[in-house]
Amino acid sequence: MSDLVLDGVRKVFATRGRPPVEAVAHFDLNVRSGELVGLLGPSGCGKSTTLRMIAGLEDVTGGDIRVGGRSVLGLRPQRRNIGVAFENYALYPPLSVADNISFGLRARGGLSARACRERVQDLAERIGLRDILDARPVNLSSGQKQRVALARAIAREPEVLLLDEPLSHLDAAQRDLTRRELRRLQRELGYTTVLVTHDQEEALSLADRVVVMEGGRVRQVGTPDEVYDDPADLFVAEFVGEPAMNLLTGLAGPGRIVGVRPEDVAVVEDEVDAEGDGARGDVTGVVVVVEDFCEYGLLTVELAATRQRLVVQTGPGPAQVPGEAVGLAFQRDRTYM
Ligand code: ADP
Repeated sequence: MSDLVLDGVRKVFATRGRPPVEAVAHFDLNVRSGELVGLLGPSGCGKSTTLRMIAGLEDVTGGDIRVGGRSVLGLRPQRRNIGVAFENYALYPPLSVADNISFGLRARGGLSARACRERVQDLAERIGLRDILDARPVNLSSGQKQRVALARAIAREPEVLLLDEPLSHLDAAQRDLTRRELRRLQRELGYTTVLVTHDQEEALSLADRVVVMEGGRVRQVGTPDEVYDDPADLFVAEFVGEPAMNLLTGLAGPGRIVGVRPEDVAVVEDEVDAEGDGARGDVTGVVVVVEDFCEYGLLTVELAATRQRLVVQTGPGPAQVPGEAVGLAFQRDRTYM
C-alpha cells in the first residue's frame, strides 16, 4: 500500500454572478500506508470536496496530492488507482452484483475473463456476497448495496480507498455490523483509507486518526482519544462527543470558558447545604429535565449562579426528579478552561 499526502490543498469554487466559495482553505495531511483517517465535520465544511479532489473528480485550486510519493494531479480519475465507494452506491442497475464488481476490472483490461471471475469470487467470499452474485441491485438491502460498492471499489486493488459516508443509509443494527466488517476488512487488506462522515460515532469508532473540519479548515488532526479528551479549540470540544461537552461561562472569571463532559460531572445531592451556595459541590442548580440515554440517565440542570444549563450523565435508573436541587462536582483533571 501507499501513503497519501495532501500538501496545502485548496479549492475555490468560482460561480458566475456570486462571490467565490472557498470550500477547502489549506489542507495538509499525511495518511500513512494502511491507515484509516476519518474526515469529520458538519455539512458544508468541505469533506466531499476534499474527497472528490483526491479521487480526481474535482480540480484543485492550489497545492498537491501525492500517492506513494508521486503527484496524481495530472492524472484522470481512472488513472489514479484510487477506489471510491460513494454514499449513493452508484451501482449499475441492469448489471448483476458480479458484473458490477468486475466492471472496472474488465474496463481496465489486462486480466483474462477467468482471472476476473476469480477475483470477484475471492472478494465475494471476503465480503459476504457469495449468495447474491447473480442478484440485481434493485433487489438488495442497503447493507448489501454498501458491500457491493465496497467490493467494486477494491476490486482493482487500488493504492488508496475512499469511503463516502459508508454507513449513513443503514439502520442501527446493520450499521453496527457493517462498521465492524469495514474495520476488519480494512485492517485485513491493509488499505490506506480516507473516510468522509458527518457522524462522529462512525469516525471515532472506525478511524485511526480523525480530521475535524469546519468552514473549509482543519481544526484538529488526532486519534479519536485525542480529539475527545484534548480538543484543540471550542469548535472541536462542542462538535465531538454525544451528548456534547458543556461549555460554561461565568464560573471561572470573566471571559473564561469551562468545558466539562456530561460523564465527568457527579451529582452530590446529599452534600448540598441549605444555603445552596455550592460550598461543598462545585456548583448547585435545579434539575429541569430527566432523560434516559442508552444505559444511562441524563439530567439537564440549570445552575443557580448563572442560569446556564448543563447536562450531567448519571447511572441507570431514576435517581433525581425535575425541580430537585442538586450539587454538582466536576472531575478536576477532566475539566478544561
Ligand atoms: P461537505 O461534504 O462537508 O458537506 P462540501 O465539500 O460538499 O461539504 O461543500 C463545501 C462548500 O463548498 C459548501 O459551502 C458548498 O456549498 C460549496 N460547494 C461544493 N460544491 C460546489 C460547487 N460545485 N459549486 C459551488 N460551491 C460548491
